[in-house]
Amino acid sequence: MSFERPLPASLSPSRLQDFQSCPRKFQHASIDRIPQPATKATALGRFVHYVLEQIFQLEAHERNVDKVADHLEGAVIAILTDDVRSDLGLTEETIPAFVREAEVISKNYFELEDATARQVEGVEQRINVEISGVPLVGILDRLDREADGSLTIVDYKTGRVPNANYMTSTFANTELYAAMCEASLNEMPARIRLFYVGAKEVIERPVTEIVVNARRKAAQTAWTSINTYYADGEFPAKPSANSCRFCAYKEICRGNGVNVPS
Ligand code: SF4
Repeated sequence: MSFERPLPASLSPSRLQDFQSCPRKFQHASIDRIPQPATKATALGRFVHYVLEQIFQLEAHERNVDKVADHLEGAVIAILTDDVRSDLGLTEETIPAFVREAEVISKNYFELEDATARQVEGVEQRINVEISGVPLVGILDRLDREADGSLTIVDYKTGRVPNANYMTSTFANTELYAAMCEASLNEMPARIRLFYVGAKEVIERPVTEIVVNARRKAAQTAWTSINTYYADGEFPAKPSANSCRFCAYKEICRGNGVNVPS
């Protein structure tokens, strides 16, 4: 079998992570381009990211919790599209409760740091680079300049705080972003700061050359395998409880005889 569609011109860290968790998931998402319906979690995440992005477009002294309300209507228009409403079964009656939940999560952010004191180098900054032959693209939530001159990658999370066993995979994406920052800005960020705005927790980790090197190598290995599978015409399914649990392609896989855990 050969694919009708080409390989994507560049890969985002999250699509690479798809591949690493299950090559078939990558195939369905990035080559077959089978849409993944929005879920409440993804819609809430996008909504909160939208609001915080707007707030960080303001002058530093204007970034306060009261500004959240100013951006809810814009977020409804930008994020709660007809498709998303349909995927989530949202109606005019249920939208206010969704917006209220997103508002509370957005406001939580202001309990975690003083937004007026942050020196921001970039908001929703697109990075497009090639690292060791791997074409990478991604959008950083925020890049901050600290008082000591170092850079911090900031990422907002609306889900649960992972337990200690999952910390390595939690930071994997942003560590690859650190490599992308270095390649595009010629400067390695010193740390990664994850804001779990739903849970009101902050997790931080220093960026080390050893870990970033490992992320570069993992991306290179994945890209080589992606090209091999693409040439072969098939990306193997790798079912597991973790990978399949939130996968949008469960029914397709079951229809193709894959033993997807229930
Ligand atoms: S359902 Fe499981 S096996 Fe199928 S694509 Fe998703 S993660 Fe892979």
